[in-house]
Amino acid sequence: MRIVLLGPPGAGKGTQATRLAQHFECPHVSTGDIFRANVLEGTPLGLTAKKYMDRGDLVPDEVVIAMVMDRLGAPDCEPGFLLDGFPRTVAQAEALDKRLAAMDNPLHAVLCFEVDDGELFRRLAGRSAELGRSDDGEETIRHRLEVYATKTRPLVDYYMHRGLLSMVDAVGHVQEVTERILEMLRVAAYRRNGGSKGNGGSKGNGAHSAVGAAGRSATPARRALR
Ligand code: AMP
Repeated sequence: MRIVLLGPPGAGKGTQATRLAQHFECPHVSTGDIFRANVLEGTPLGLTAKKYMDRGDLVPDEVVIAMVMDRLGAPDCEPGFLLDGFPRTVAQAEALDKRLAAMDNPLHAVLCFEVDDGELFRRLAGRSAELGRSDDGEETIRHRLEVYATKTRPLVDYYMHRGLLSMVDAVGHVQEVTERILEMLRVAAYRRNGGSKGNGGSKGNGAHSAVGAAGRSATPARRALR
């Protein structure tokens, strides 16, 4: 599977990406994790990225795109991957499209995690206290949410128009959210394989919705992913 996880900081993308990567036995490619590892090691990439990360700004497109293209070229990404935190701008999405089209390996799905701002703030403030992340101070959190709204949120339209987008209600127990996502992906696979449009709770706006999809018994969509 080639999957992109979209969503604001604090929406739980990292947690779900780890679980989904285990489920699909594919690499979890998190740009935030790669940057943090480089910052810790003091590499030139880390030194460049840190300036932006500490302010809650996005690292420039050319830096991120080069890093991700390099990572996706590794042999472990050949069968599939889970992208967490990339793309975050339209320019990044276009670069990804171009690369995947050249390899004739299109994306299977884009999942956009939805959590309201109040809950995001609570989660990020909790994470700040727990992990001491330098980009989780109150002002920086506010700025990161603004950056998401202006630079990344437009990707919802971008992927909706390509018929790849599924909106995921990311509030709830971790396992419950994982089940919603897996059901969502089953529905998407079923559609790709020519199934009917009746399954999966489409909102009728071009996006599919995972809300309330968990826990249903075996459907054709569920079987399609097996
Ligand atoms: P994350 O852990 O995904 O929230 O990422 C932490 C920080 O790394 C972000 O606030 C950005 O400064 C930087 N970053 C991660 N991914 C990207 C990206 N795709 N484009 C630009 N900056 C990124």
